[in-house]
Amino acid sequence: MHDLKAVSSLFDLRGDFVQGYSYGSGHINDTYCVWVDQAGLRIRYILQRVNHNVFRQPIPLMENVKRVTDHALKRLKEENCPEAYRRTLTLVPAVDGKPYALDADGNCWRVYPFIERARTYDQIETTKQCVEAARAFGDFQKLTADLPGEPLFETIPNFHNTTSRLAALKDAIQADPLGRVKEVQKEIDWYLSREADCHLVVDYLKSGELPLRCTHNDTKLNNVMLDDVTGEGICVIDLDTTMPGSAIYDFGDMIRTATSPAAEDEKDISKVTMRMFMFEALVQGYVSSAKSFLTPLEKSLLPFSGKLLTMECGIRFLTDYLSGDVYFKIHRPEHNLDRCRTQMALVESIEAQMDEMKAVVDRY
Ligand code: ADP
Ligand code: MG
Ligand code: MG
Repeated sequence: MHDLKAVSSLFDLRGDFVQGYSYGSGHINDTYCVWVDQAGLRIRYILQRVNHNVFRQPIPLMENVKRVTDHALKRLKEENCPEAYRRTLTLVPAVDGKPYALDADGNCWRVYPFIERARTYDQIETTKQCVEAARAFGDFQKLTADLPGEPLFETIPNFHNTTSRLAALKDAIQADPLGRVKEVQKEIDWYLSREADCHLVVDYLKSGELPLRCTHNDTKLNNVMLDDVTGEGICVIDLDTTMPGSAIYDFGDMIRTATSPAAEDEKDISKVTMRMFMFEALVQGYVSSAKSFLTPLEKSLLPFSGKLLTMECGIRFLTDYLSGDVYFKIHRPEHNLDRCRTQMALVESIEAQMDEMKAVVDRY
């Protein structure tokens, strides 16, 4: 356990540390809630340690977060948004003025004001949540669309590069360190038979037919704060993977994570299905905010994006299974294989409904 009082003292919190404890259900960073007494008033903050095993270069990452949040705040103020500080994360500076602080062990820490009267959800319960989350991610892309200066730093290089994800799968098949290839030939053939799909978006980005945008790249419902009272999506959080990418990646991951009622590691794959009403809710929310910038090609690829991102994730699970479960945490021997199979089932469900999905997009 880290000394939260000592870490907090590295930041300009304008008051006395009262208490701190682990907070939320994030899987990547260490997240804490810290209460501070400011002249008799108790205020809480989010204190986070950046996971430097996942994000190898925390300082350029923090510079991304600083640029994106400063820009978003500026835009919101220009639009006279009455609660600009609730609509974007903002960084509390360290006492030396930097947007982060390093502790003696080399950990990189940051502090955000706590966004009150709102929360994230781990499980999607309603179509309204889908509409609101998708709208919020669209708003985020809109806010960052005209970010000035250099492109953002790539915090995880080739994160959504499905061409290199597929190449990594082929490498793992070649290496086959645990002799697992023979058990999963069916799954391998299934993914390899969809090779052309893996290259499509990467090629469009290369040729310039698809624009490179500033995208979030981790568009799960638990990365959006929904207002406690109105249910409105008010603020996108978890900006570690915000970097250059395609709008297709953000929307595709929403389809992957929001439309199926089954867990990612469900063993009974008959439960895995792309629910059209959830897809429609995502389209409704996303298009309402993204219509001002989406190109016709991006819009036409929205149904396919779900297939692409689900395939990408499945490829990663299969690669990890073949490599001996070195990347994703597993809780049972065939955990990664189960995950790989749910992604296949979801892709098949999307493929079967592709025409109807296109018709839904055409209606918005
Ligand atoms: P991870 O990358 O580990 O998922 P997140 O940045 O998503 O970390 O934070 C984990 C959880 O902490 C979120 O799901 C959310 O519930 C909570 N959280 C993060 N930032 C804030 C904030 N500014 N205000 C309130 N809650 C927050
Ligand atoms: Mg998160
Ligand atoms: Mg995260």
